[in-house]
Amino acid sequence: MEKVGGENLYISGMYALRGREAIKRAGITHVVSVLRLSLDRELFVQYQHKIIEVDDVEDENLLEQFPDSNRFISDALKGGGAVLIHCALGRSRSATVLAAYLMASRRLAPHLALGIIKRARPFVEPNSGFMQQLELYHQMKFAVDVEDHPIYQRWMYLRDVERSNAAGRAPERIHFRDAEAEIGRITRVKEGETPEEKSEMQLRCKKCRTALANSTSFTPHMPKPVQPSHNEAPRQPCAHHFVEPLLWMKTELSKGQISGKLECPKCRSKVGTYAWQGLKCSCGDWVVPGISMARGKVDEVSLKL
Ligand SMILES: [Zn+2]
Ligand SMILES: [Zn+2]
Repeated sequence: MEKVGGENLYISGMYALRGREAIKRAGITHVVSVLRLSLDRELFVQYQHKIIEVDDVEDENLLEQFPDSNRFISDALKGGGAVLIHCALGRSRSATVLAAYLMASRRLAPHLALGIIKRARPFVEPNSGFMQQLELYHQMKFAVDVEDHPIYQRWMYLRDVERSNAAGRAPERIHFRDAEAEIGRITRVKEGETPEEKSEMQLRCKKCRTALANSTSFTPHMPKPVQPSHNEAPRQPCAHHFVEPLLWMKTELSKGQISGKLECPKCRSKVGTYAWQGLKCSCGDWVVPGISMARGKVDEVSLKL
């Protein structure tokens, strides 16, 4: 069991819970158990106890727990208590929950929060899924309403795409990028803290000039690095603009098909295609999910002043 970062915060694995003397000396009043095991409740009777039932696997959702666990920890500290956060080994799950608390309470990036923990317990290492969730939590500026946040909702949608692709079906939970504006306004922590993204470019239907997508909803994709040792055919320029789901696509994307065509909502001419399992761009990059506006079917209009 190690004390972390100058506050009454401790981290450990399961084993340390048996060391009653050390726990008593530390004056532990609150315990957060981050594991899915049947716990010997007798061990915890004298503490305020919070259990977060997750396994140490990459696709567990700890992100949705952060506001609750942070409140539990900060209430305990404010009340003069000492908090022990533990999982099985004190390496991944407990470190993630503790890092989320340090991040939110000190406005830190994940690697800085983990650095503080590693000074006390050098081998802590959140699994890669938890690392990504800490990154998202940072991008969300430690929002209190995690589940209402567009970044969270986009993440949940991409998780669903991954799962449904593995099962060979279309996703059920589609997140439409342009439905975010209202949510963004509601969940903004403080005025000016989440500056509106500015679109620099707009795609319009070549035939009828209807606006189809702004550059803020583009999915970035990367042309594959050229490997000079191979005799590859010269790379073609990108034939697609990849975008996130947009509300005008809702009828088509909600059909439950794994791929299909996208028509201009006004003149019905074909402007793109989609495939949940991904599309390969002419530049060689795979984009998953693949939602494409064909360059030949749209005009690029600059919105810069
Ligand atoms: Zn490309
Ligand atoms: Zn059109």
